[in-house]
Amino acid sequence: MAVENGFFKEVLKNLENANRHLNLPVAIYERLCTPRRSLIVSVPVQMDNGTVSFFTGYRVQYDFARGPAKGGIRYHPKVNLDEITALAALMTWKCGVVDLPFGGAKGGVACDPTIMSRDEIKRLTRRYTYEIGIIIGPESDIPAPDVYTDEQVMAWMMDTYSMMKGHSVPGVVTGKPVSIGGSQGRNKATSSGLVATVKEALSHLGLKIEGLSVTVLGFGKVGYNAAKILSDAGAKIIGVADSKGAIYNPQGLDIDKVASHKKQMDSVQGYSGADNLTIDELISIESDVLIPAALEGQIHTGNAGKIKTKIVAEGANNPLTIEANDILIDKGVFIVPDILANAGGVVVSYFEWVQDLQRFFWNEAEVDLRLNAIMKKAFAEVLSISKEKKIDMRTAAMVLGVKRVADAIEVRGLYP
Ligand code: GLU
Repeated sequence: MAVENGFFKEVLKNLENANRHLNLPVAIYERLCTPRRSLIVSVPVQMDNGTVSFFTGYRVQYDFARGPAKGGIRYHPKVNLDEITALAALMTWKCGVVDLPFGGAKGGVACDPTIMSRDEIKRLTRRYTYEIGIIIGPESDIPAPDVYTDEQVMAWMMDTYSMMKGHSVPGVVTGKPVSIGGSQGRNKATSSGLVATVKEALSHLGLKIEGLSVTVLGFGKVGYNAAKILSDAGAKIIGVADSKGAIYNPQGLDIDKVASHKKQMDSVQGYSGADNLTIDELISIESDVLIPAALEGQIHTGNAGKIKTKIVAEGANNPLTIEANDILIDKGVFIVPDILANAGGVVVSYFEWVQDLQRFFWNEAEVDLRLNAIMKKAFAEVLSISKEKKIDMRTAAMVLGVKRVADAIEVRGLYP
């Protein structure tokens, strides 16, 4: 990853940049530069072969001035404290941009789930949940899925926490299966929200969705659902990539067929209705919209110069390095930044938490309606700050999100 070990520094640089337009009181700015609480845990797991392996897990609660800390859990070999801290800060600004009554958090375990059995992942999840159980809870910090974690992992987390409490606590995590208090629409929420912001960007730039050419980097839950929703709406998905490589068909791909090919072959490559390309070759191909939807630092100085697109909508968290962001802005690319573009996931997580606390559940149409209203409003607010202050969309989103957090910290005052 291009931002490895410097990820939090990048987040702080973006914060410093936003503060040029906010001029926050020094003590509040300094508060925002430091996480409130960081927990590192050792997670012993009995492996299938009988040995015990020790994994390192993290949970960082970056800020909770506006409400309980909120953010996903990722299982990935590259998880480390710098990355989790950076992602927890991004969650804080993100919840501010879409005006949710949450602070920001992130967690993760450094492990390679692709080489672990389902049982090993279950035992890892249960022990990790127990270890961070001292700081999570529906009133304090609510985890959710992120890279390589899913509904089942959330079900195990909910069950473990509930066993510790002696009664069911559905509101402790979001992104659960519907049968135990998950929300309708949560599974594709990040992508639905992303598409809502792409539609707003199109109408701002005077473009239409019909016939729009789209490239998607990353074919996990976010990338696949974004491709599917856009293609159903009339766009042409001309290329997709996963970690192993890319495929390209200028006539447009059949997303369901690509998905079933990936399920069988473990990669999009080799799909019969397209040509194989390297990821960098796909990045160089002209398209109207590019959606980076895998990991941070996907677009960097090495490949940003080759991009020929009108809109970049960030499905992943921090997929552009600071340098790549500047290169694209110089080229006149309209960027919908991550803390706005991918906020749909946490918006529906908020709906799930509200439904769990009230034990009163909504249908999918209601979820979609409320999600779209929030995404549209946030896009309009960010765009208006960007126009008014003559700043790019990322800085504008930061100004909006950070200001809401700073206001909460200021009005609450310093304890004691
Ligand atoms: N992991 C997602 C994100 O980065 C969702 C977090 C949540 O729903 O709490 O936004």
